[in-house]
Amino acid sequence: MVPFRMFRGARIRRNFNVFACNRGVRNMTDHIVMLSGGLCSFFAAQRVLDQQERRVVTLLFADTLSEHPDLYRFLDDVEKRLQHPVTRISHGMGLWDLFNQQGMIANTQADLCSRIMKRDLCDKWVKANCAPKPTLHFGFDWSEASRLDGVRRAKPWATCEAPMLEPPYLWKHNMPDAAREMGIEPSSTYADGFEHDNCGGFCVKAGQAHFARLLHKRREVYLYHEQEEQSFRDRTGKDVAVLRDRRGGKTKPLTLLAFRQRIEGGGLFDEDDIGGCNCFAPPETEGAT
Ligand code: SF4
Repeated sequence: MVPFRMFRGARIRRNFNVFACNRGVRNMTDHIVMLSGGLCSFFAAQRVLDQQERRVVTLLFADTLSEHPDLYRFLDDVEKRLQHPVTRISHGMGLWDLFNQQGMIANTQADLCSRIMKRDLCDKWVKANCAPKPTLHFGFDWSEASRLDGVRRAKPWATCEAPMLEPPYLWKHNMPDAAREMGIEPSSTYADGFEHDNCGGFCVKAGQAHFARLLHKRREVYLYHEQEEQSFRDRTGKDVAVLRDRRGGKTKPLTLLAFRQRIEGGGLFDEDDIGGCNCFAPPETEGAT
């Protein structure tokens, strides 16, 4: 088994390049692309770089320190292909460090990981480094217009755009081949069949079908999170878990250990319950910042 923390060690040694926006350019809007390991954000970055002066464009990546190693290879390739640096920032904690510090496991309604490690972190960076009223670009595809509405409500201090909501439209399932045609190999998370590449295939907002895939494709990652979840439960005494069991009409916590044992015992699970990360779109209940 490959200890997941080995991945983290490799990442922490990286230098986080921090470039200020709009370097030496007056009266120009800063354009910040919220970059991830996702292909849609790569294509969004390409469109922004094609349309704007490069010196006002920042490709911003918020590292949760819980990513798969191949995501960093992908980002390095993106830098080379687009000939533009990726600005890498981090809150400085891994997911479980944060959950333990906050005394709760994040969930779809209270997504403190994406809020603290991504949305708030990026907002702070932009406000500290860019001129007022910057333009933020998000990697939402043409079917995700509601997500753009959400970030526009949450960030009245910025202009929010999603270049891939505009034509020419690109289907998500066509993006891997389109990227390869440009010389970019998608991160291995796509080859493993995941919908997005965040947090190494783990996500507190994901459902049973997603975790079944994680167990099947990245067993060491699954076991790492199973162990961390159990440690959290032991330490806090709280009956909480990443997954939910809705059998019998009642919703109760379903630990990763119990879910793994169910699958390995040939038990059934909800194959339609995929869920999604949607890190940059705040929950409906989250107020404007
Ligand atoms: S991908 Fe999931 S676990 Fe990772 S930061 Fe986003 S919401 Fe949290």
